[in-house]
Amino acid sequence: MVPPVPLLINPKAGSLFRSGLKAWLDEHRADFRIIGTKSADDLRAQARALAESGEPVVAVAGGDGTLMNAAQGLIGTPSALGIIPCGTMNVFAREMGIGSRRFDLALEAIRDSVRQSVDIFTVNGRPFLQMAGFGPDARIIQLITPKLKRRLGAAAHIITAIRVAVEHHPLMELSLPNGEVLHATQLILGNGKRYGGAAHLFADASYNDGLLDAAIIQLESIGILYEVITYMLHRGATMRNTTDFTKLRCIESCDITTEATLPYQLDGDFAGVIRPGETAHVEKLPHPLHVCVLRHPVPMSSFSRMMAHPMIEALRSKLEELREF
Ligand SMILES: [Mg+2]
Repeated sequence: MVPPVPLLINPKAGSLFRSGLKAWLDEHRADFRIIGTKSADDLRAQARALAESGEPVVAVAGGDGTLMNAAQGLIGTPSALGIIPCGTMNVFAREMGIGSRRFDLALEAIRDSVRQSVDIFTVNGRPFLQMAGFGPDARIIQLITPKLKRRLGAAAHIITAIRVAVEHHPLMELSLPNGEVLHATQLILGNGKRYGGAAHLFADASYNDGLLDAAIIQLESIGILYEVITYMLHRGATMRNTTDFTKLRCIESCDITTEATLPYQLDGDFAGVIRPGETAHVEKLPHPLHVCVLRHPVPMSSFSRMMAHPMIEALRSKLEELREF
């Protein structure tokens, strides 16, 4: 018999019920040893303790933010992260080929022996798994209240984006290791291809090439949104399809300074602000994270990838509601 895998879970998280994970777990009791967590710090500490006790896999239920907290306890240890993706976006789980809320596939990946090593980059010492954003995208996340997110799901992002589009966006300065200096109103750093949901922003990114893909966008207001959405509809930005407003770079590290208070987000969670005179330093950690993945990732066509985007799903369900009136 296969020993049960330790599964860290916040028993109070609403996503547990919304995603259907609670019911699925009731049918898979023998597969897991469920361990409750009280806070992000507790999750990190328990993940670290399990890794140090020699567990080959530490599974975690949650969205991208929760996975990052657990990953922090596992980086630099031989233990692999097992993903049970029950969040709203589940970008990292999609990047790893497990998909969103597909718990049977997630268990298959945990039981299989295929492990993927993933580069981990940090902003001022704080690590992220999938992406970091500086500027309006972080401002949107800063403004979304938990109540709005509960009521509207991914559609909350669209409504808040319209509000942010009319604000002034501060100009930031990006200094690269090769001496190049670039200016932007929106900076997005990608460890993998995906930005939100299933849509690709960085067509050529790889999460184990030791480099971050950077989209350096210099536009005002709604133009940024239009630019990002256009790249996602074209299956990601490449050196060949970028406009004059976007520069793409592959970087090992960078320094960011700003003319006015600049919000930033890590893996879709608001992470704080950079003030004038301060520098945000981006760099890679010396050790990668090991992640349980499927031997045969589930293929998705580019059309189904686009249609599976949480924002499009949210819009479709809103349109259906309206049609009922
Ligand atoms: Mg990379």
